Amino acid sequence: MSDQPKKKMVKEVKVDLDKCIGCRACEVACSGFHASPKYSSFNPARSRIRVVQDLVNDVYVPLRAAEYTPAECTGRQTFKIHGKQYSECNFCPASCPSRDLFKEPDSGLPLKCDMCEEEETPLCVQVCRPGALTYEVREEERAEEEPALGEVEVGLKSLLHKHGAQKVLDTIARLQND
Ligand code: SF4
Ligand code: SF4
Ligand code: SF4
Repeated sequence: MSDQPKKKMVKEVKVDLDKCIGCRACEVACSGFHASPKYSSFNPARSRIRVVQDLVNDVYVPLRAAEYTPAECTGRQTFKIHGKQYSECNFCPASCPSRDLFKEPDSGLPLKCDMCEEEETPLCVQVCRPGALTYEVREEERAEEEPALGEVEVGLKSLLHKHGAQKVLDTIARLQND
């Protein structure tokens, strides 16, 4: 076996908050790209990027949906920006039970940024005219194989946490017999 360290490709969307104007074009583009069929609807509630907005204080923070978490944090931080206090939840990218952000509005299933998989440049970056979002791909060393969960696994995991294994299995069995 080769002793060469394994490499992985890391895709990163960089955010320059000084350039974000809160136009929310990124939300619209992401929701359209992930609609089924593609571009059949544009609904920011289905977007995997959401822009936290505070118009009075001129604060705009684009957040891409991260991992689903089955439990909300018990210890949190607070941030003070331009004299206004924000909770850690305001800038948290998790699909968390404590709120509706990053949940598919019809099913309640968690949404996660998938980097627009087959696109060379993610849609949110493509439409960000002020240049607040930029895209970078680089190689990094990887210590060991990291299993990546697909959308179906993440959705199932959230259903298992919410309803329990037996209820999910009973529902699958019932649907198969329909
Ligand atoms: S498209 Fe760019 S400038 Fe507009 S809200 Fe999104 S990140 Fe900000
Ligand atoms: S939204 Fe984020 S910070 Fe807030 S409780 Fe959930 S995981 Fe924790
Ligand atoms: S990278 Fe793609 S999936 Fe992720 S937030 Fe941007 S448009 Fe949405």
